[in-house]
Amino acid sequence: MPDDCIFCKIGTGEIKGDVLDHDDMVLVLNDLHPQAPVHLLVLPFRHISSVADLGEADGELISRMVLVANRAAAQQGLAEKGYRLAINCGIEGGQTVEHLHMHVLGGRQLSGALG
Ligand code: 5GP
Ligand code: ZN
Repeated sequence: MPDDCIFCKIGTGEIKGDVLDHDDMVLVLNDLHPQAPVHLLVLPFRHISSVADLGEADGELISRMVLVANRAAAQQGLAEKGYRLAINCGIEGGQTVEHLHMHVLGGRQLSGALG
């Protein structure tokens, strides 16, 4: 783990995050600067810099992230109206924190445009 990774530190509890849920692989927290009424982040405890660094052995982690995101969205009351799962990758993909995370956005009509 890089010394300065904020999401690793939230995972270990070194920095307090607004954590809503976790299992043995991933945690769910409220985004610090929400872009929608519900804006959660799902991230692995293990440091992985970006989605581009996932490999064949990470199949369970990927499915766990999606399933935990779905569960969190349902808990937030988004199941019926819908929500968006998004992973930004790299500079032009809009990634600002270099620890893999999936956004869960909902609670308002989201724009159809992705960029
Ligand atoms: P990215 O731009 O990398 O896809 O998303 C990074 C997200 O992390 C942003 O939505 C930003 O608001 C959020 N974020 C940055 N620092 C913190 C933090 O310390 N705690 C939480 N909960 N979210 C953070
Ligand atoms: Zn990290």
